[in-house]
Amino acid sequence: MPINIPESQKERIVIVGAGFGGFILARRLCRSQYQIVLLDRNNYHQFQPLFYQVAMAGLEPSSISFPLRKAFQSNKNIHIRVAELLEVNQEDKQIITDCGYVNYDHLVIATGATTNFFGNENLRKHAFPLKSISESLHLRNHIFQDLENALLTRDYDDRQGFIDVIIVGGGPTGVELAGALAEMKKYILPKDYPELDQEEVDIYLMQSGDRLLPGMSEVAGQKAKVFLEEIGVNVQLNTRVMDYDGSYVYTKDGAKIRTDKVVWAAGIKCPKFKGLQDELYARGNRLITHDDCRVKNTVDIYAIGDAASITSEAYPYGHPQVAQTAIQMAKHLAKQFKTGKQKSFKYKDLGSMATIGRNRAVADLGKRRLTGFFAWVMWLFVHLFAIVGVKNKVFVFLNWIWNYFTYDQSLRLIIKPYKKEE
Ligand SMILES: Cc1cc2nc3c(=O)[nH]c(=O)nc-3n(C[C@H](O)[C@H](O)[C@H](O)COP(=O)(O)OP(=O)(O)OC[C@H]3O[C@@H](n4cnc5c(N)ncnc54)[C@H](O)[C@@H]3O)c2cc1C
Repeated sequence: MPINIPESQKERIVIVGAGFGGFILARRLCRSQYQIVLLDRNNYHQFQPLFYQVAMAGLEPSSISFPLRKAFQSNKNIHIRVAELLEVNQEDKQIITDCGYVNYDHLVIATGATTNFFGNENLRKHAFPLKSISESLHLRNHIFQDLENALLTRDYDDRQGFIDVIIVGGGPTGVELAGALAEMKKYILPKDYPELDQEEVDIYLMQSGDRLLPGMSEVAGQKAKVFLEEIGVNVQLNTRVMDYDGSYVYTKDGAKIRTDKVVWAAGIKCPKFKGLQDELYARGNRLITHDDCRVKNTVDIYAIGDAASITSEAYPYGHPQVAQTAIQMAKHLAKQFKTGKQKSFKYKDLGSMATIGRNRAVADLGKRRLTGFFAWVMWLFVHLFAIVGVKNKVFVFLNWIWNYFTYDQSLRLIIKPYKKEE
């Protein structure tokens, strides 16, 4: 069955994924000569860099997500459909979704990446990923439910399981989450859970490599470690997590640590779609893409953002999978569509940063290395300006001010999924 989309004389561009790449592309093209179909499995755009603050009860999910229909309210040229891409039929220029099929003249794949558990079924089953709003809320619920559970038990070992957290992966997500957890331990637990012994709460950050933040400078990695240790995080470098059975983590060097919560921030991979042959994919299932964003050996199929791998001497494995890549590729592709002229994509590295709790961050800006308070203020403003929607910016800003001065995040609710009474 075809998905109901009005027929038009205009050429149709189907954009799959309304993350950083797809959303910006749709914005740039929604008043163009094309009919735009924007498809996502969710009816909102989400701001992934702040997922960890939702998980730590610092922000409401609605502050970092934006309803797609609201974003394109005044535009009749764009058709939003909530559906999940399953398959690409290249011959008939059709995509097949869980709700039906859609014909395209041009297809843009902007489906981002998902968590990579590297084939470990135990980790997939038991560890917490952090790649969506739902997963952030799921983690938030578990953190607070486990703190409640810890008060219910007299057994030391069980209590350790409830209160200790292991974060795997020393990239920006792992580092930022560890910092936020350490602050929660310091400022919130003594007030909300005075009966719990704070000394018993351990936060581990495990990284298989010999430094944190491998995508950033040496200085940033070293400073992040110092900052985290100052606020009480147990940083373990050269520690490879091999398995997790839901109760114990097993590392390569033989350690076995009790915990009911492992957050997996150690890798991502892109989804693969039926109809796009295996040889079209590079490392991490990124689509091998020419420098004008066209997917290799296909006709009228493009990929942008995390999903695309455009290689060059400077980027032999493709550009970094960060928001700026997706945004810049989207702008580049929009220009190509509008002008009809194909051009080579040039990535402009605007720098990278990570925050470690309040007042501390690290930033690499070209050759400049910033650490500490100034980097933290920059981090705040860069993220604030990148959030979609004025209301969201205001809400996030007010929340941050409130949290900063009160040392309190006020959203510590355990929202249980609805269960129908029997
Ligand atoms: C926790 C976390 C923190 C991060 N922090 C930073 C940071 O500080 N700075 C930075 O630059 N980058 C950060 N990133 C990376 C950054 O968010 C990504 O690089 C960026 O979102 C990629 O944009 P994209 O458009 O390619 O994909 P995404 O933004 O991931 O969007 C993909 C979209 O596709 C949709 N989708 C996926 N599969 C399907 C399907 N089959 N059918 C329909 N829809 C589908 C999804 O719902 C989603 O809306 C972070 C990522 C995470 C997870």
